Parts: sequence; structure tokens; C-alpha cells
Amino acid sequence: MKIYRCKVCGYIHKGDEPPECPICQQTKCFEEIPENKINYEFFKDAWSRQVRWMNATKYQNEIELNPDEEVLKMLAESEAKSLLGGKQPYCPCRIQTGNEMADQKIVCPCYFYMGEVELMGHCHCSLYLDKNKKKNGK
Ligand SMILES: [Zn+2]
Repeated sequence: MKIYRCKVCGYIHKGDEPPECPICQQTKCFEEIPENKINYEFFKDAWSRQVRWMNATKYQNEIELNPDEEVLKMLAESEAKSLLGGKQPYCPCRIQTGNEMADQKIVCPCYFYMGEVELMGHCHCSLYLDKNKKKNGK
């Protein structure tokens, strides 16, 4: 099992082969990342790419990464544990079913984040924030 990160959108995948990226739909976009590089910097880089990708596609520059480093460090630690424990980088806020197909929905960025960001101004674990909602003080 190897760890791959999409150079385009930051999507992280663990497996024997790089997949077709479920976020940006490209195939030759993955680079292999050695396990000893799975740290806070790795996740922050991946998340920043995800934010850039979201803003360039679905959102008009409305999403930002949570600026609170303490929150990010906690989330990175949790996702690293998931990834190095042989699983995908599951969202720390979601309950895993143990079924790989079902749990695909909670690989970060999870299936639910878009709706949550739109509804609440942030995804459940506050990794991604809606800039506008914050400005309005909601
Ligand atoms: Zn991608």
C-alpha cells in the first residue's frame, strides 16, 4: 500500500495504484508520498490545494482554510493516524462504518462538506470556512 497525493487538487489516496482522482477526475496527477513525510506540513499542503481547487471550480474564491493552526494540527494528527493505520484519510468528525465503499464518502474532503459550508459557514470539523459567512458574523 502506498500513499498518493493529487498534485492538482490535493486529494489523498492510499492503495496499490493511484486512482482516477474523484475530485478533479484526472489520472496522471498523483505523486507518491513516503510515509515519513506524512506530517502536518503534508496535510496543510494538501488542504491548501483542495481549497485552491474548490475556489477555482465550484466556489468563487469563497472558501478558505481555517487559519487556526491548533485546529489544523489536531485534524492533521487525526487524519495521519487514519492514513498510517492502513485506511484512507477519513474525516475525523465522521463515524467509520468499516465498509470501504460506504466510507469513501468520508474521505477528506468528505462528501458532506459543500452542503455544510453553505449551510453553516464551515464544514463539520471547521477545516473549511466560508469567507462571506465569517464576514457577516454568522
Ligand atoms: Zn485531483
